[in-house]
Amino acid sequence: MAGLKALWSNRPLKRFPVSRQSRLLAIDGLNVVWRMSARRTRSLALKLDKQGQVIVMTPMATRLCELERFIRSRNEWIHKQLTQFKKLEAKKRESRGQILWFMGDQLAIELQRGAKNKIQTGPESIQITTRQPLDESKLDRRLNNWLRAQADQELPRRLALLSRQTGMQGNGLQIKSYTARWGSCRHDGLIQLNWKLIKTPAEVINYVIIHELSHLSNFNHSPAFWAQVAQHCPAYKGNREWLKENGRLLLAR
Ligand SMILES: [Zn+2]
Repeated sequence: MAGLKALWSNRPLKRFPVSRQSRLLAIDGLNVVWRMSARRTRSLALKLDKQGQVIVMTPMATRLCELERFIRSRNEWIHKQLTQFKKLEAKKRESRGQILWFMGDQLAIELQRGAKNKIQTGPESIQITTRQPLDESKLDRRLNNWLRAQADQELPRRLALLSRQTGMQGNGLQIKSYTARWGSCRHDGLIQLNWKLIKTPAEVINYVIIHELSHLSNFNHSPAFWAQVAQHCPAYKGNREWLKENGRLLLAR
């Protein structure tokens, strides 16, 4: 187990009342603000502040090892709270139009000016460099073009891979733009996929492809059809749920 490391001295932070001492600690990679209260509190308490910072409040006499044990015993709670916090933050950014969904990740959109137009992605953000300032509709177009280009690469690659793996061979692929469906399978075996699938997680893309490939032998949604889907995609129910929950938002734009 990783050791406990005090990153700061125990000199009180300015923004906290002098009656309390605060330290910033890293416990198993988690940053925790430790506030010692001069009041006669006996118990240790934990909370998440508005910035998503984990704060633990303890009596003055608390020892580091006690605190460490306490934090570890609340590991699950902390993890849950942080996940919820991140989700909420992402929702807020999304409602301000500052989020781009890509392969299930919600990337923060960062705009910057530069000599050359370009788009780069990191694990949590997408940076758009532009020579001219972009209005909202131009930005939307740039992002959608970028997503479409990613879809044009990713969807054929996955379809080929899954066809090979499952032995279900269609008759070509068309990437289309739909607002109310993710894909379809024509009677002549042509698979049609919505480019907006590129916004969803890899396993959801796989599910939709397997769904459409399964229609090659079952042009319906009968129990036999679903049994075939389940054979190649055992977790399909979760993927359908994911689409039910997030799909409408992702199809709309
Ligand atoms: Zn279907």
